[in-house]
Amino acid sequence: MNIFKKNIILLGDGAVGKTSLVKRFVTDDFSDKYLTTIGTKATKKEVFFGSGDDLTKIVLIVWDVLGQKGYKYTQALSFGGIEGALMVSDVTRKDSLTSLEEYWVPSLKSVTGPLPMVFLGNKSDLKEEAEFGETELKKFAANYEPFTLQKQHIMTSAKIGTGVNLAFNILAEAILNEAKRAKNLASSELRMTSFDATNIQDVTEHIISDFSSQMGGLKNALSIIENLQKKIGLDREHPEKKKLVEFVNALAGAEEPLIPPDRVSLNRARRLYLINQL
Ligand code: GDP
Ligand code: MG
Repeated sequence: MNIFKKNIILLGDGAVGKTSLVKRFVTDDFSDKYLTTIGTKATKKEVFFGSGDDLTKIVLIVWDVLGQKGYKYTQALSFGGIEGALMVSDVTRKDSLTSLEEYWVPSLKSVTGPLPMVFLGNKSDLKEEAEFGETELKKFAANYEPFTLQKQHIMTSAKIGTGVNLAFNILAEAILNEAKRAKNLASSELRMTSFDATNIQDVTEHIISDFSSQMGGLKNALSIIENLQKKIGLDREHPEKKKLVEFVNALAGAEEPLIPPDRVSLNRARRLYLINQL
């Protein structure tokens, strides 16, 4: 059996139902109490794909964050390696959908680069009060890269349970596919280069020069590198592996508005591959 550990995050305005969705998914339970999430909380749940020799277990680490726009949730992202997100809206509040587009998606992608995202229209049990429906959610979600997601939009109800398992499973499977694809791309591209990963300092410097060449030279790249290095606390003399992964994700975030998404994914995959070789 193959076993992977993958981090995902739920984002969206306060009270859209993020904590309730996690609770439904993990314990198959719901309560009407609005428990304000304090800080960031990670919950674990295992999901399985395939069968026999091909059985794959994914240990999903689900990050649930304080439901306010602000700095807190970037903490969760910096815990490292978020590879997919459930972007949650509440069908009784149209503004919670607008907010995904204007705030949550850009903030996330600025830290992680492009990644699989599933858009949820939660509280679908409240049909009478709905301000938008599945058609609109679908149209909205189609603006974002599909990766290998079977579906980019899902109507959910944490209260009744509709769509909840489906949402987490579809996201997990797309993350798995993306990781495989990136690994294949990265290893074939690396075979064409002569760089030998021997120690973490060399890998760090190689990643920095790789980023610089993508940006058209060190001059353009320098201030971005210095900013991110400082923000993450990456010590270039004695880099920690975990910080370096965070740094690579942040570089992808910086590249995102500047170069095509496929290139961004490939750059990140190649850099992560080098780190994984250590
Ligand atoms: P969060 O701030 O995004 O984590 O939202 P919560 O999970 O704390 O939920 C906010 C409120 O919405 C609570 O009162 C929940 O009981 C309620 N709620 C969450 N999901 C649903 C749902 O699918 N249907 C209904 N009717 N209420 C929900
Ligand atoms: Mg919450």
